[in-house]
Amino acid sequence: MDYYGSNIQRLIEALKVLPGVGTKSAQRMAFHITAMPEEEVRALADAITNARKNVHFCKVCQTVTDDEICPICRSKRRDHRQIMVVETSRDLAAYEKTGHYEGVYHVLHGSISPMLGIGPNDIRLKELLTRLQNLDEEKADEGSMTESELIVATSATVEGESTAMYILKLVKTLELPIKVTRIASGVPVGGDIENIDEVTLERALRGRTELK
Ligand code: ZN
Repeated sequence: MDYYGSNIQRLIEALKVLPGVGTKSAQRMAFHITAMPEEEVRALADAITNARKNVHFCKVCQTVTDDEICPICRSKRRDHRQIMVVETSRDLAAYEKTGHYEGVYHVLHGSISPMLGIGPNDIRLKELLTRLQNLDEEKADEGSMTESELIVATSATVEGESTAMYILKLVKTLELPIKVTRIASGVPVGGDIENIDEVTLERALRGRTELK
């Protein structure tokens, strides 16, 4: 039965594609939207369309950004020989909020999950690899002796752990001269990094250990 008329119903269905939005929330939002002034609705719709159109992935670290290269990758104040691998741009934001990390990032946009059929080629591992290989060449050019570090900060879930192990194996197989570390397990098992408080995150980062 169509209780609300097809326009409202279509809006409800459209809103339900968003994460965490069930039928009830979608209904609430839909009725709220139809009661909003038209120009506010237009601004909301424009914001959605423009974000989708203009936000892209940083060519270096793959995070979402307005520019070709994100402000972190562009910054001369960051340590570009220290790369933290995270699953999402939200994780990146969580580490940035601690204000204690001075390196750069690499955003995978997911983790390896055989259960969900997500393999290494479905996340941004190829980009990471290319980046690490270039880092190696740059280092040779500069004759630099500082050791590069790859901090694997994927979540403490089965998927996050298998991703970490996969990355370590990759670095070892290709004999890339980079130290691989893993954040300390202060991060609760199964915990989403973005939901963890800054103190815990900072402690997890500080307590990282080398993966061998
Ligand atoms: Zn970047």
